[in-house]
Amino acid sequence: QTGANDLQTKADRLVQMSICASLARKFPKVTIIGEEELSTDEVSEELIEDGHCEEILKKACPAQYSGIKEEELVIWVDPLDGTKEYTEGLLDHVTVLIGIAYGGKAIAGVINQPYYNYEAGANAVLGRTIWGVLGIGAFGFQLTEAPAGKHIVVTTRSHSSALVNECISALNPDSVIRVGGAGNKIIQLIEGKASAYVFASPGCKKWDTCAPEAILHAVGGKITDMHGNSFQYNKEVKHMNSAGVLATLRNYDYYASRIPNTVKQSLVP
Ligand code: AMP
Ligand code: MG
Ligand code: MG
Repeated sequence: QTGANDLQTKADRLVQMSICASLARKFPKVTIIGEEELSTDEVSEELIEDGHCEEILKKACPAQYSGIKEEELVIWVDPLDGTKEYTEGLLDHVTVLIGIAYGGKAIAGVINQPYYNYEAGANAVLGRTIWGVLGIGAFGFQLTEAPAGKHIVVTTRSHSSALVNECISALNPDSVIRVGGAGNKIIQLIEGKASAYVFASPGCKKWDTCAPEAILHAVGGKITDMHGNSFQYNKEVKHMNSAGVLATLRNYDYYASRIPNTVKQSLVP
């Protein structure tokens, strides 16, 4: 445990070692930034994954990415997003996030939801992987719009603050969904459960938003900080998304135009 609001479990450590060491072995020149501060020098062989996904390799690489060199990519890894909820047994809030950035922009992402369907009975397939690439699209789920004319806000369950709540009240939503995980909240948007992800607080980091951003953008959505600034993902960037998160699949301007100035002034990018 690194703090009451910032838990780290054995699962966080093992998953990160597996993902980062496997990627580093296959793509030695790529910059990989994981949430946990761990060395991947002495990772046990059983944690190394060397398979690949045929489905992805069948797609044509968008022309604008065909000349990319390995050393120009930055991969942001959150081995376990929604750790607080994981420790409380809310297993479907948990996701594994792998985001790929090029030129400071999130261009591809994977959201794995290892416990998807965990309450659906023994016949249901456990877990799923949602992935997307700008210029190709996003797969592994059914893109669904939120109910028309309804304003449903999804926000943090375990990192609330007076400002977070003040901002949501100002939006006067029809309902508020409080769930864990940045990855899980983007899933709520692309599956039509919520119309806006609103988090007027620092706390969320680049590994929380990179993969979700690529997938959301691949289906025409938008994610920014509370001021409307887009996120940068180059390797030198500050990790903290200090000015919060505002994301939608549709109607971004409706929400952005209703964020109170008092809220914006409290969040310094
Ligand atoms: P949440 O919506 O609360 O699940 O947060 C989304 C992501 O941001 C998770 O990875 C959280 O751990 C992280 N996060 C948000 N707020 C905080 C905070 N106050 N302290 C530490 N991590 C936070
Ligand atoms: Mg996280
Ligand atoms: Mg995490």
